[in-house]
Amino acid sequence: MDGPSGSGKSSASKGVARALGLRYLDTGAMYRAMTWWMLRNGVPVEDGGAVAARVLEPVIVSGSDPGAPTITVDGQDVAEEIRTREVTNAVSAVSSVPAVRARLVELQREIIGSGGIVVEGRDIGTVVAPDARVKVYLTASEEARAQRRARDLAADPAASVGRTRDEQARRDRLDSTRKASPLAKAADAHEIDSTEMGLGEVIEAVVRLAKE
Ligand code: C5P
Repeated sequence: MDGPSGSGKSSASKGVARALGLRYLDTGAMYRAMTWWMLRNGVPVEDGGAVAARVLEPVIVSGSDPGAPTITVDGQDVAEEIRTREVTNAVSAVSSVPAVRARLVELQREIIGSGGIVVEGRDIGTVVAPDARVKVYLTASEEARAQRRARDLAADPAASVGRTRDEQARRDRLDSTRKASPLAKAADAHEIDSTEMGLGEVIEAVVRLAKE
């Protein structure tokens, strides 16, 4: 399942995995974990060469239970740390570095193995799993996406809808225009626009596709 930020991919992917008894992988969390580690170790994230030189150092482990997904870096649980605005605003720079993508795609393919998993990201249908049995490209209007994100970030007083919309638009622009595996809809993906749909309806639509 691919799509821009705030399209509802995470909730929908987890819901589909639970409904079908499959595993679940959030690849965005892996890019965030890599970014968190770079920031923490003082690596200048806008310097692609400096980032590339260190990609093999962090040990990033993702648990794939859709009821309780986990993410650790060097054994430390970073589920909360990777959702800060600092990480969110740096992640596009780190994920545009080809060496980062090569490393994380390798880890993602190891986890995917022979399948039985719902994977969410930006390049799953195009790059990571081009042979996936069902591909979904989930979208929603920019306004709906900003409102969902702002709701997710309700505890952060700096996260007004307007500010969130601007930061999200910047991130989507960087993610869709980078050279290395930009956000893209696979030619054989089913596009679902969730602007006017509830979460349950999106999950149902994807489950139906999976059962076809
Ligand atoms: O999905 P989420 O918004 O948490 O992803 C965080 C960032 O990770 C994205 O903005 C993008 O830069 C990067 N990403 C990526 N490829 C993926 C998943 C995420 O480049 N498959």
